[in-house]
Amino acid sequence: MSQTMKYCPSCGADMERRIPPGDNRERDVCSRDGEVFYSNPRVVVGTVTEQDGRILMCKRAIEPRKHFWTLPAGFLELRETAADAGIRETLEEACAAVEIDGLFSFVNVTHIGQIHMFYRAHMTEPGFEAGPESLEVRFMTEDEIPWSQLAFPTVFLTLSRYFEDRRNGQFQVHDVGLEKGSWKSMGLDMEPAGSPV
Ligand SMILES: [Zn+2]
Repeated sequence: MSQTMKYCPSCGADMERRIPPGDNRERDVCSRDGEVFYSNPRVVVGTVTEQDGRILMCKRAIEPRKHFWTLPAGFLELRETAADAGIRETLEEACAAVEIDGLFSFVNVTHIGQIHMFYRAHMTEPGFEAGPESLEVRFMTEDEIPWSQLAFPTVFLTLSRYFEDRRNGQFQVHDVGLEKGSWKSMGLDMEPAGSPV
């Protein structure tokens, strides 16, 4: 990954990209005082919420991938556990109150510096609707899921493993990596359905 900061957040001087003393990889370093700023992967957390055999899906109201379908998910916040982030994102995006049943997928997306985690979950009270970041929220069977209209490869991977495990009668934890170019091998559309060509 290349330089992420142009100016030092502490003093405003120009940043440079170099290997600090005692380190072994390039970092963003302040050209004035030598302060080092580390860029580390970001964590995205979501849920696979099942009810009556159907999965809670959200149609995105925001970019990237607006109008595509996703599992409720978002970035982990500071001072928050991953499981709590999954619960919070499901509440924010689908207005659905859920309880976590266990970790399901842990997807390393190294080429974009992200880790995506999905938990299995179930509703604790009835009722759901589109939150501000969703256009539509719906429970879908495996056959109803618009596979090529899924928003992200990690969602495609998580859902396909989920149904596979469910058929086998046992949920595993999937610690997997996702390669660049998986969009293509999964057959994900670049344009949302019904959009003008
Ligand atoms: Zn500085």
